[in-house]
Amino acid sequence: MAQEQKAFPLSPPAARALEMLRAAGYEAWIVGGCVRDFLLGLSPKDYDITTSALPEETKAVFQGLPVIETGIRHGTVTVVLEGEPLEITTYRVDGDYSDARHPDQVTFTRSLREDAARRDFTMNAMAYSPGEGLQDFFGGQEDVQHAQIRAVGNPMIRFQEDALRILRGLRFASVLGFSLEQETEEAARRQAGLLKKISAERVSAELAKLLLGKGAGHVLQTYPDILGQVIPELLPMVGFDQRNRHHCYDLLAHTAAAVDGVPSGLSLRLAALLHDVGKPRCFSLGEDGEGHFYGHARESAAMTREILTRLRFPKAVCQRAETLVHYHDSVIEEDPRLVKRWLNKLGAEPFFQLIDLQRGDTGALAPAYRSRKARLDAVEALAREILAQSPCLTVRDLALRGQDLMALGLRGPEIGRAQRMLLEGVLEGSVENEKQALVKFLESYPAKKGEISPGKREGTRRKSNAR
Ligand code: ATP
Ligand code: MG
Repeated sequence: MAQEQKAFPLSPPAARALEMLRAAGYEAWIVGGCVRDFLLGLSPKDYDITTSALPEETKAVFQGLPVIETGIRHGTVTVVLEGEPLEITTYRVDGDYSDARHPDQVTFTRSLREDAARRDFTMNAMAYSPGEGLQDFFGGQEDVQHAQIRAVGNPMIRFQEDALRILRGLRFASVLGFSLEQETEEAARRQAGLLKKISAERVSAELAKLLLGKGAGHVLQTYPDILGQVIPELLPMVGFDQRNRHHCYDLLAHTAAAVDGVPSGLSLRLAALLHDVGKPRCFSLGEDGEGHFYGHARESAAMTREILTRLRFPKAVCQRAETLVHYHDSVIEEDPRLVKRWLNKLGAEPFFQLIDLQRGDTGALAPAYRSRKARLDAVEALAREILAQSPCLTVRDLALRGQDLMALGLRGPEIGRAQRMLLEGVLEGSVENEKQALVKFLESYPAKKGEISPGKREGTRRKSNAR
């Protein structure tokens, strides 16, 4: 018997899909994350539907509508109703998991309870329908009230079946600010070694959500043993005393504070997680007893690339995180010419991310050194002011275009060299970004061997041909 529950405001397409399945004589419920989110007062991202109808029967109910066979072997079809995609899955029981990843086979069932029992956590194992209210077989509602993540059934077995659930548990802890229930937590730690069997794609998808959560730093500090199974490079950071007056935390705690101290964005959070990952390898102790980490930004950047590539994060994410880590401890002066150079080197968006990373890093230092934030705020304001004036920051912004340079007689590689030289002049303030001024600048440039200057074209050409 379903429990009394105030009505959840389903989206019209989700409500309609339930009605259509029920009108055809099947059971149908919304299930999983959307029910949990309703109980938390959050708006669900999407609606998953679970039904007693077999996939072919579901397809027949929605005949004439767009139906995609998303995971037909696992009983899932996606129906698009009024433009909203709905995943509809047949009640199923998962068979044995011999590889800690995939059920060897799935069996369809007509029992909602059996379907709920295969789900990972009690808060994700509830079903709801407008007519019948909430179906909560495993105490999910109470766990939501207590902000607890509890495995459905025996956690040791559930994590052994699919070790990704361990990382999902940490992800929900971070995103929802929940805690793992004690037995579930113990099992998660004991079975964490099985995470090595999980594909990089599944791991990185959960890791990304975990890092974007409000409790990412706390989860990192509480479960380095688990996260260390997917990123072993984090393990030497645990309890690592930096022996340096700038730091009042051990390396892991500093990193956790930096992660929480940067805005929520994937490359940025990954960069915060890994900005000091190379420190243990670069540690040296000065004669004064201070710890030093010469070259750690470069080492951390190389490790960032290796780790994120191994985890198969998208290339653009790997590259951005690597760049941010590489420059995380570069001093950016509040000087318009220098800020322009940074904007030229990194581009506006990565530059502002770098400022965010440096702010997060600074905020995680010993209190006496946090005042460096003021400089970063000033640098950011200055950069925004510079950008508001549509400055010349790349060769594409030069008032003298490629075709103008050709008209002046330059050819091939000479054009690129001239553009770089002109940009250099503009960035350092030696010349205005104005056509005539740029032409003059170009003409007055000492015509060194191999350098460009209109009129020296032929000589340069011969040289390049001779190569
Ligand atoms: P989100 O809000 O991030 O989508 P979610 O709980 O809906 O969270 P999904 O990955 O969309 O998570 O999965 C939908 C549902 O499927 C879950 O709520 C859970 O019931 C079940 N589920 C997903 N992955 C697993 C798994 N690895 N093991 C057991 N059940 C799972
Ligand atoms: Mg979902």
